[in-house]
Amino acid sequence: MDNVNIKENFLSLKVSEANDLKAKRPQSEFTSDPASLSSFVSRLSSNFSSEDEKFMRMALRQAQIAFDMKEIPIGCVIVKDGVVIGKGYNQVEQLKDATAHAEIIAIGTAASTLDNWRLDGCTLYVTLEPCPMCAGAILNSRVSRVVYGSPDTRFGGCGTTVDVITGNALKREVQVTGGILADECLGLLKGFFQQMRLEKGDTGNKGI
Ligand SMILES: [Zn+2]
Repeated sequence: MDNVNIKENFLSLKVSEANDLKAKRPQSEFTSDPASLSSFVSRLSSNFSSEDEKFMRMALRQAQIAFDMKEIPIGCVIVKDGVVIGKGYNQVEQLKDATAHAEIIAIGTAASTLDNWRLDGCTLYVTLEPCPMCAGAILNSRVSRVVYGSPDTRFGGCGTTVDVITGNALKREVQVTGGILADECLGLLKGFFQQMRLEKGDTGNKGI
């Protein structure tokens, strides 16, 4: 094979890879390897209160709203002293805003409720591990505790892929608990991508 052929093959490989990635675009927002995830979740999911479960179910309801609006189904609620003061679901497509993640919207509504951007003493429940952007917003807004459902093995910012929280430069202490109702949280995401593939007429099993 001469150099020209090598170059052509290289280019065609890149094009086919790009097309493949494009076809899988929604799935590229997060990726979970079910095998590694199962062991990861079982390591995390041993220490939840019934209150944590109750609020995670509320976050799941927010995620379901996103699902129904054809947004990647991620939901969030923020709780202070046992009361929900903020909630949100992913609205990236609807608002055409890459920052419109469930956590960012919930942090905004919680600040409006309190008329204060400082969310000290608040717990943020979210169905998927916050990304680095949201983990940064959690630090900036002084949320005291984060409880997430499914870990995000592709873009998790609370310890799974990178850790924005531990040893942060702002010296904020945030307690992080992951894995609560992880199967349900991940199941909603899987169902969403399955439905998107069916609507696109793609029945291939590309799995998440
Ligand atoms: Zn995020």
